[in-house]
Amino acid sequence: MARKTTKPKRTKPKSLAKTKARLKAANKGTAAKVKPPKVQARADAKALHGDMPQWKPAEVEEAFRRFQAAMPEPKGELIHINPFTLLVAVVLSAQATDAGVNKATPALFKLADTPEKMAKLGEDRVRELIKTIGLYRNKAKNVIALSEKLIAEHGGKVPGTREELQELPGVGRKTANVVLNIAFGQPTMAVDTHIFRIGNRTGLAPGKDPLAVELKLLEVIPEKYMMHAHHWLILHGRYTCLARRPLCEKCIIADLCKWPGKTTLMAAPAAT
Ligand code: SF4
Repeated sequence: MARKTTKPKRTKPKSLAKTKARLKAANKGTAAKVKPPKVQARADAKALHGDMPQWKPAEVEEAFRRFQAAMPEPKGELIHINPFTLLVAVVLSAQATDAGVNKATPALFKLADTPEKMAKLGEDRVRELIKTIGLYRNKAKNVIALSEKLIAEHGGKVPGTREELQELPGVGRKTANVVLNIAFGQPTMAVDTHIFRIGNRTGLAPGKDPLAVELKLLEVIPEKYMMHAHHWLILHGRYTCLARRPLCEKCIIADLCKWPGKTTLMAAPAAT
């Protein structure tokens, strides 16, 4: 008598099933479609020209609601002890990474955490301590000059206005905005390379230069989110919306982002 055999059931490989589900979502228009690198480059060029659809106020609100839900108390990553060391750290961070600055500043701040101690330490010693940071010669000069100015004109204290801050050597609008936000609790928007890219790429705040992006962000972001908006956007640019290969598949605002070069097949997580 012939033995009865049962054929093993054929199941679809998991990865194929996942890809099909993603494609289905993309085709329904609920998720962005994968774009090749050339298309992404063209999309970046388009974004840089400010040629993007405008965000609706409800979309901006939703994006920042999600940022807040994901990280209620965002913090800057530059190591500092007080407003003076914050000011020095931000001056040192120009055209350098926060991680690179953080490697050098603990030793510097251990010796000098006030303008008086910094001025006493002297330019040569400061230069030696920060020589791992780009443009260190000029930065050492500025750190000493700004310390001397703080002593001479502000009683050794960091002033709390943009005008006074921008008169200090090595301090521009972006640095003043960071200090005003972190040390003085003002709802400023410091536009660095990450925020400039996000503002243009997503269409949230298109602008030809950092000042244009800053002013647009101040205009569109609801006031209740302004205190932390600068940190949320910087961290989003540093860890998700990367310059060369944005991680759109992990992005919590992927469905709101207007960038035609989005690299995800996934819809953004449902709003909670
Ligand atoms: S979907 Fe997110 S990560 Fe991708 S480009 Fe837009 S903001 Fe950046």
